[in-house]
Amino acid sequence: MLSYRHAFHAGNHADVLKHIVLIQLLQYFGQKDTAYMYIDTHAGAGAYALDTGYAAKSTEYETGISRLWERNDLPGPVADYVKLVKGMNPSGKMRYYPGSPYCADKVAREQDRIRLFELHPSDNKILNENFRKVAAHAAEQGQRSNVRGKRVMIQQADGFSGLKSLLPPPSRRGLVLIDPPYEVKDDYRRVKDTLADALARFATGTYAVWYPMLQRMEARQLPDKLKRLPCQNWLNVSLSISAPLPDGVGLHNSGMFILNPPWTLEPMLREIMPYLVEVLRQDAGAGFVLESGAPVTAPTAARRPK
Ligand code: SAM
Repeated sequence: MLSYRHAFHAGNHADVLKHIVLIQLLQYFGQKDTAYMYIDTHAGAGAYALDTGYAAKSTEYETGISRLWERNDLPGPVADYVKLVKGMNPSGKMRYYPGSPYCADKVAREQDRIRLFELHPSDNKILNENFRKVAAHAAEQGQRSNVRGKRVMIQQADGFSGLKSLLPPPSRRGLVLIDPPYEVKDDYRRVKDTLADALARFATGTYAVWYPMLQRMEARQLPDKLKRLPCQNWLNVSLSISAPLPDGVGLHNSGMFILNPPWTLEPMLREIMPYLVEVLRQDAGAGFVLESGAPVTAPTAARRPK
């Protein structure tokens, strides 16, 4: 079932949290000279128009990027994100919003590798077109672009199973974003199973999972299931912009679960989450949760003496 189109949600509060975390992770990976691979298992269309089409109809960006656009008190990591979005909008008017592939293309360096999976035929086509435009723009500016070469590769394939073929990355440095639509409940199971398999292939990779906080059981159980995966440590951050809404009415709360996060991520989030809550809040139910830890393993049954 492929009815989900991310354009409806582009730039909303969930995208704000996801893309701030993603940009910080990419910047962290860029601190070492050695190349890294960024893998986006559910890439979407890459970039979105906010003033036409689905995004203009839903106006979900008003719960997110709109509220940050004019602020002049942005904390550093939020400013990095808003600067990247403003870079897409040189006229100063908020017309375009970057998806995760665009964020990665902007932050990753020439030597880094970007691998994108998008199954939906229409969004896959738009994703390819968007990267063709990036390449054409780079050529106009006299810059060398490697969009259709080794640097960026786009596949119309299932990202859950496609991930397997890329792990471990040749440089043994890798960041994976798993951001499915969760329209079908099987996505929750596949996230966990895919991560278990990925950790077996590439234990030291950093894996970032976006998830919605909904009433359905699979959503409520996902973070606890991820906490049991055999990583070195994990970090879980969620942002709620209002008191709970009945399921199906809209999304008010979402999270990012990161396996093997860099040590810098938690202090950075401690600094910015109160600010995001303040600026994005819709009512007194707004808030955030930030927790971290090492995998909890199920207690082993005590052995009976023979
Ligand atoms: N990561 C994107 C971003 O932050 O800009 C948004 C991705 S959107 C939440 C999820 C995307 O996954 C949709 O475009 C959908 O078509 C695509 N999709 C759904 N199932 C997929 C699968 N099994 N493999 C790859 N892509 C899939």
